[in-house]
Amino acid sequence: MIVVMKAGASEEKLTKILEEIEGIGYRPHLMRGVERNVVGCLGDERGKKDLEKLAVLPGVEKIVPILSSYKLAGKDLNPKPITVKINDLCSFGPNSFCVIAGPCSVESEEQLIEIAKSIKASGAHALRGGAFKPRSSTYSFQGMGEEGLKILAKAREETGLAVVTELIDHNDLDLITKYADVIQIGARNMQNFPLLKTVGKTKMPVLLKRGMSATIEELLLSAEYILAEGNPNVILCERGIRTFETSTRNTLDLNAVPALRARTNLPVIIDPSHGTGVWKYVNPMARASTAVGADGLIIEVHNTPECAMSDGGQSLKFDTFAELVSDVKKIALAIDRKYGV
Ligand code: PEP
Ligand code: MN
Repeated sequence: MIVVMKAGASEEKLTKILEEIEGIGYRPHLMRGVERNVVGCLGDERGKKDLEKLAVLPGVEKIVPILSSYKLAGKDLNPKPITVKINDLCSFGPNSFCVIAGPCSVESEEQLIEIAKSIKASGAHALRGGAFKPRSSTYSFQGMGEEGLKILAKAREETGLAVVTELIDHNDLDLITKYADVIQIGARNMQNFPLLKTVGKTKMPVLLKRGMSATIEELLLSAEYILAEGNPNVILCERGIRTFETSTRNTLDLNAVPALRARTNLPVIIDPSHGTGVWKYVNPMARASTAVGADGLIIEVHNTPECAMSDGGQSLKFDTFAELVSDVKKIALAIDRKYGV
């Protein structure tokens, strides 16, 4: 339910309403507007009848139901597009188009610094790199751990690029928040609800990737877990879903952009690297992602993809990444979108 306050209703009346909402067992979520305030009531359906009774209290204009089950991720409470700011170089929202790039995994200091410098020179806005890798096989490279995080922080120092890295275990949260700027929750953990609650308790921007067999509705319900804990900084990421098609690693679902736009005001970015699994297909799908109105991209780039410890086959080299940036810049311009912040 949403309590819409009358225009100009006093702070005293508002405080009273907030208390009443809590008294009924709901969590009030206050959204201050220029003319009027609205309060979302977060909780289950059981007390709905009691909430409706608040309509008679002074200062209340009306009580309206929230139709979606993702109250905070949906548009009822947040009608305006949300911008998640990372730093002065990088931001995800309607007024910018930013690109995160870097290797799948951090492999060495030499490798990461070289990649960071190159992608920065080509026009990337943030650096990605996994220090904790969720691998299908337990025998595959699992990431460098804290050592990898230190290298990422060093690359940030040298280039000014914000650092995006994946959290797979809640025990590593303090480490990740110490070294990174954005916490990535990977496809395999999209429905790891305790992990979502853990990152929801921080104020760090969270890049939430769509699960490989998750619906749009499930992606938004997962975002809601983070938002409901008090962290408003969620960026959604489409990274391809599993279908019957085997000629690509995944099927990049670009329907997700308009479908998400219709349901949420959270920013949406696209990962054509995991979405295709084939480096040659990354540029065309990055161009399509830009044209369809995504708020940004995340792209795997490696100095020597043929030697990469993970995802080399879908990683761009420095020259093909530079070409990608130049191509998406033109498309961003054509649809009146600013490249960068
Ligand atoms: C990654 O970004 O390297 C990764 C593991 O992505 P996803 O969770 O989308 O598979
Ligand atoms: Mn990868």
